[in-house]
Parts: sequence; structure tokens; C-alpha cells
Amino acid sequence: MSRGLAGVAFTDHCDVDAGRDACFGVINGLKSEVASLREAFDGILEISVGCELGEPHHDVPLSREILADGDIDFVIGSLHRRRGDLDYHDIDYDRADIDAMMRGYYEELLELAESGCYDVLGHINYQERYMSESARCRLDLSSYGGEVLEILKVVASAGKGIEVNSSGLGRGLGHPLPDADVLEAFRRVGGEVLTIGSDAHIAARVGGELDGAVKFLKGAGFGRFAFFKGRKPSFHDV
Ligand SMILES: [Zn+2]
Repeated sequence: MSRGLAGVAFTDHCDVDAGRDACFGVINGLKSEVASLREAFDGILEISVGCELGEPHHDVPLSREILADGDIDFVIGSLHRRRGDLDYHDIDYDRADIDAMMRGYYEELLELAESGCYDVLGHINYQERYMSESARCRLDLSSYGGEVLEILKVVASAGKGIEVNSSGLGRGLGHPLPDADVLEAFRRVGGEVLTIGSDAHIAARVGGELDGAVKFLKGAGFGRFAFFKGRKPSFHDV
């Protein structure tokens, strides 16, 4: 492929709060699209059926049912909104109580991590992507080291992974989501599984900033990344 990718996982959004029918509608649609792509790219590109399972801890039975679908290769567990709250995409950060918001985020992210309904945790510190410059100045991520470490320990001890989401690099943050300190902490608590995601949403961004993400991954002491097929990671050296 012209962007040098050996494989790609399509991870369409599937929010459990939207209900069972909506979730399986997304998944079944993706399965049939991937089936025709696999025919077209046979021997050229490895293609996985994935899903970005939104807020799986809000409905664990439904999440488990989705995870039991034998055709799904890869599941990113993500947190875009707390129960009854707005998507972090839609928050007015200049008026928000940033500290209360971050504490609430980590509380639910821990709940998500403990649910076990994912292969990797997606874009930790997702909010950073949408914060205004001035709100970002009021954000001191170093004060949440303990909360983050607790989450990373749960993920690592379950043999699961985290996503290095390169969108932060493409959007001027200067680092992926999460940043280098979280990646290093994950390695220190025994985490081994890292996937790289461009969070592209449009074709032009597929594979965007992957070299940058690899640099961060290496800088944090990792020598490989994972690609999932059949919910199992295979590792590729960097
Ligand atoms: Zn997401």
C-alpha cells in the first residue's frame, strides 16, 4: 500500500448507550464492507474488523455479547462521555471545572478498565484534543499520576493494552494520546501491548503521523507494537 501499511483495522464507533440494535447494525455493516475489501486487497493488506466500543462499562452484558461475536478481530474500549454527561468533544472548556472533569474522567476510565470489555484502552486523555489553548494551560496532568497508574496496572495485569493515538500529533498537541509519560508508566507496570491508531475518520488521514507515534513508542522503551486478528495480538518490531 502506498502509505507503507501492512495492515489496517477499521474500528467503527459502537456506543453501548445507543442500544443493542444500533451496535449490531454498525458491526454487521462493517463486517460486510470488510468482507469485500478483503477480497479486493487479498495478499496486499491485512484487514481487521474492529470496533471502538464506547463506554462499555455502561452496559456490561451488551458489551460482553458484542465481544463474543466471533468475527470481531479487535476492540478499542473508549470513554467519550461520563454517564449522563456531554461528550468531551462538546464541553465548553473555558467555563468547565477542569480538575473536577479530569477526576470524573479517571474514575470512569478505571471502571471501564476493570470491566475487561476491550482489547486496548483508546486515546487516554481524549479531552486534550478538544481543549482550547487557555484551558490546556489550566490542565496539570502530572497531578493525576496516581489515578492513571491505578488504571494502567489494571490494564497491564489483565494482559490488555493501550492505544497510541496519533491524532494528537496531527492536531498540534505535539504528542500522541496519551503522552510519553503514560506510555513509560505502562511499560514500568508490565504493560506489553500497544497498538497504533490514527483515529482517521476520513481516508486521507489513514496512517497519519504513524512515524511520529512510533518515535514516542520507542522513546518510552517499547520495541514493538501489536496488531490484532481474532482478538489476539501479533507483535511487530519497530
Ligand atoms: Zn474515540
